[in-house]
Amino acid sequence: MEIKRVMVVGAGQMGAGIAQICARNGYEVILHDLQEDIVEKGISSIRTDLHRQVKKERLSDADVERILRLIQMSTQLGNVEHVDMVIEAATEKLETKKTLFSHLDRRAPEHVILATNTSSLPITEIAAETKRPDKVIGMHFMNPVPIMKLIEVIKGLATSDETLHAVKAMAKSLKKTAVEVNDYPGFVANRILMPMINEAIFTVYEGVSTPENVDEVMKLGMNHPMGPLTLADFIGLDTCLYIMETLHEGFGDDKYRPCPLLRKYVKAGWLGKKSGRGFYTYEA
Ligand code: NAD
Repeated sequence: MEIKRVMVVGAGQMGAGIAQICARNGYEVILHDLQEDIVEKGISSIRTDLHRQVKKERLSDADVERILRLIQMSTQLGNVEHVDMVIEAATEKLETKKTLFSHLDRRAPEHVILATNTSSLPITEIAAETKRPDKVIGMHFMNPVPIMKLIEVIKGLATSDETLHAVKAMAKSLKKTAVEVNDYPGFVANRILMPMINEAIFTVYEGVSTPENVDEVMKLGMNHPMGPLTLADFIGLDTCLYIMETLHEGFGDDKYRPCPLLRKYVKAGWLGKKSGRGFYTYEA
């Protein structure tokens, strides 16, 4: 089955990035979110990003117009009737994703693959909400999507080899490298990354050092391109907290307990770059 049209559910930072690279590589895209203004914001961030590429002479103005023409806005989940594949990039909450997959399954034509960009949640449990668990798969893009090469591809218990092959071919068409991993909390990327970020937050919480110094140590001492607290702000502190909670609950091991300071920041609405404040402050 050839994939021509893709619905991206969730027009936040990941959804916008995924919609952009799909359109850049010739797919027709329906970008969906709860409200029109959120989808508009997603499209506007795609436009800004594409214009940056024009300035760097990597794209022409005509390319930008062609890419934007391939992206349609949606606030009706029923639009899934018109696509061959869904890539869901909504908020990292299991209940949100389960409800979405159940609705999408009821409305999508039989052949449609339902992929989730979850960072940590169980693919098997999300697939169990549908009558097509063989066509449900994890497709974990990295942030920022247009730049990062990796896609973690996660098979649930019932995911078919046919779905796996179709998704790997799709990843290749997006000029990404797919790495297959198994369905355990946090998969590989976030099982390793998030405990490091959480520990960096504990060092600030316990007064061992400042965010600036923690980041400097990891950049200069470990050759990380970005310090862990800058990275946490970039990912979104709410997303970091949800992932730590998934690891904590999924493994039942207290080594994954989220730092109280992370909880406090999220409760305060300090979500990092996207809200203007996290461990650092950002211009609007
Ligand atoms: P975000 O907060 O920027 O965007 C989430 C979007 O989902 C919002 O626009 C919200 O309105 C929308 N949404 C929520 N419920 C919805 C529903 N029922 N229907 C449609 N839209 C809905 O978050 P993000 O950083 O883009 O993360 C999205 C997903 O991608 C999460 O699963 C996250 O774990 C994953 N992810 C994030 C990163 C990262 O670095 N931020 C990296 C890889 C994967």
